[in-house]
Amino acid sequence: MIVMKFGGTSVESAAAIGRVAEIVRARLDRHPVVVVSAMGKTTNKLLAIGSAAVSGRREEALESLTAMRAFHLAEAAGLGVNAEVEAHFHELAELVKGLAVMGELTPRATDAISSYGERISSVIVAAYFRHAGIPAVHVDSRSVIVTDGRHMQAVPLFPESNAKLEAVIPPLARKQVVVMGGFIGATEEGVTTTLGRGGSDYTASIVGAGIGAEEIQIWTDVDGMLTADPTILPGGYRVETCSFAEAAELAYFGAKVLHPATVLPAIEKNIPVRILNSRRPEVEGTLIVAEAPPSRSPIRSIACKKNITLVNIVSTRMLMAHGFLRRIFEIFDRFETPVDMLATSEVSVSLTVDNTRALGAIRDEIQEFAEVSIEDHHAIVCLVGENIRKIPGTVARVFTALKDINVRMVSQGASLLNISLVVAASDLHRAVESLHREFFDA
Ligand code: ASP
Ligand code: MG
Repeated sequence: MIVMKFGGTSVESAAAIGRVAEIVRARLDRHPVVVVSAMGKTTNKLLAIGSAAVSGRREEALESLTAMRAFHLAEAAGLGVNAEVEAHFHELAELVKGLAVMGELTPRATDAISSYGERISSVIVAAYFRHAGIPAVHVDSRSVIVTDGRHMQAVPLFPESNAKLEAVIPPLARKQVVVMGGFIGATEEGVTTTLGRGGSDYTASIVGAGIGAEEIQIWTDVDGMLTADPTILPGGYRVETCSFAEAAELAYFGAKVLHPATVLPAIEKNIPVRILNSRRPEVEGTLIVAEAPPSRSPIRSIACKKNITLVNIVSTRMLMAHGFLRRIFEIFDRFETPVDMLATSEVSVSLTVDNTRALGAIRDEIQEFAEVSIEDHHAIVCLVGENIRKIPGTVARVFTALKDINVRMVSQGASLLNISLVVAASDLHRAVESLHREFFDA
């Protein structure tokens, strides 16, 4: 069995769902369990409808719902499967009217309304699969994903969910494609919950781990992870394999492909997770595994963080007195300003922040015992790779590649899987280009 998850853009229209069906058909021998997101931006729209309903804009809410219904029915008709979701829209209209009377959108009501996106998309996809000659059965995720009652951010109860998943899914998947909605679950009492925004990846991973799938495929609209942030350096190569730790590091630096925490249940059970492009299914994507095989380059990918502000603090005494760093961090902490990178010498501390909201106040306080200078328009370049610690000479190659660039700060994280550098924003493109050439084209 494999789990195949298709995100909002992969099921945004009749044409997109048609592509999904062919992707699934080509893999029937692997007994797919398909997890789908809501179509396109449906979840956002449902949430907007909910808040309009409770803030005295009942007609506006009902009009948006009518438009949403028309859209889904038109796409379903385009697939030849109309009428499957009429009842859902009828229930939704009742819910919206009820919310308008209540005048309050509780977390529980938020989950009730936002769950419809996946409930509807999964019914349409299952119906279309059958129409297209793919044997398919719809399973309501709320009957197999058991969660606690923390609405809008529910936490799965793994023993309960695994027992249900194991009992329900494999017997069905042996003969048919199982289709489920992502994002949603229910408490033990049967109250609908959601796993938090973007939760469908999490569903795929919970399902995959629960049934012991051989692979979890996250189908999205990019070819996988790339060797460079495409917004800074287009033309990077696809990362074929990376470890979970590397994926987590890259995600922290803004690689938007996947939130690694959402695939943790799969990684913990050693189930490989593959990121694939539903518009280019022939591309092999990026495989994320607990432990990745060594790569030729010590670097897996170069990530970047723009709009970074550099703060340099120089102790006014000759040497930093003890308690100096604690004093500085206490101030950043009090103003709820996270520090990203840090480098210290005997008399100075340099650090970076990306949230500058409270920086003026922070400066005023630090200036009582040290000199502070603030420079904005910087960027962090982060080279990620577990082999950094195994292949000697990597740092030397970094500096050779950057010999014409003024590197303002360097840190090799304690995790030993990244080297981070701070450069001026105006040098960012040039820095990434030469690092990429050094590590991927040499
Ligand atoms: N539809 C949900 C959302 O937009 C879940 C998902 O797409 O992963 O947040
Ligand atoms: Mg998503």
